Amino acid sequence: MTLIDGKALSATIKEEIAAEVEKIKASGNKVPHLAAVLVGEDPASAVYVRNKVRSCEKVGFKSTLLKRPADITEEEVLELVHKLNDDDDIDGFIVQLPLPKHINEERITLAIDPRKDVDGFHPVNVGRMALGLPCYLPATPFGILTMLERYGIETSGKHAVVIGRSNIVGTPMSILLSRKSKTGNCTVTLTHSRTKDLPAFAREADIIIAAIGIPEFVKGDMVKEGAVVIDVGINRVEAPDRPRGYKLVGDVAFDEVAPKCSFITPVPGGVGPMTVTSLLLNTLKANRNEVYR
Ligand code: NAD
Repeated sequence: MTLIDGKALSATIKEEIAAEVEKIKASGNKVPHLAAVLVGEDPASAVYVRNKVRSCEKVGFKSTLLKRPADITEEEVLELVHKLNDDDDIDGFIVQLPLPKHINEERITLAIDPRKDVDGFHPVNVGRMALGLPCYLPATPFGILTMLERYGIETSGKHAVVIGRSNIVGTPMSILLSRKSKTGNCTVTLTHSRTKDLPAFAREADIIIAAIGIPEFVKGDMVKEGAVVIDVGINRVEAPDRPRGYKLVGDVAFDEVAPKCSFITPVPGGVGPMTVTSLLLNTLKANRNEVYR
């Protein structure tokens, strides 16, 4: 069994990005600039955004954090989005989700200029992804494809079972794995909360992508010998023996599943770090106008 070390791979890719930034500087061009909008006080969102900003600094990007109170109006958020769309210094930006209930997330996502949508959530980018056209890939699936590629995991002709159909992970993952591409060409089964006998599908899988948000949902008897298991879940469970009183576990029962796998990602230290790094890669693409010429 090989542990896919997302933390180490992410550090390697960040070094590669930092080297690119040095080249950009040396040639006198503008360094990549990512802006992040954080609305309200959601602690998890604050941690995610802080990580993104810190990662920008680490690789030499410019970053701007725009914090707004939870009672900001939808119109004010839209105004901010329009401002960022028009700001030539900003290559890409994200609006951290979830937004407070009174703000329509769909309206905000639609207002983001697809050329600056480095989260890859705008329907234009999602459509381009589905058609195999240049686009910003959503960060988590992008990070997973990068892990498969860098660990030399063959996907062509394999049966991939994706568990969970969210717009940000499961659905794009199923599309990307099925496309005719270097990390695609899989036969994909997309399973979800209405799937009958999900374990039967999982047991047939050469590759499992678990993205449901249920702690240790994928058990040892749901995985065949030699499978590749990618665990996207990040779940807090009580752990009185830990200093913080909780620990993070994935959607996969790691101890039971790992011995059967050819490759598996841990939680933490697997998919999570790769997600932030993928956002940096998208921002670099935006800076170079690689997607929309
Ligand atoms: P979500 O909560 O939006 O959707 C969950 C999906 O799981 C739904 O499609 C639902 O149909 C499916 N589901 C729920 N219960 C099920 C069941 N019993 N059987 C089968 N399917 C079921 O999910 P999300 O936003 O994709 O997040 C999933 C998990 O991944 C969460 O733990 C989240 O924290 C984590 N996550 C991690 C990263 C990362 O960078 N590592 C990024 C995004 C999400």
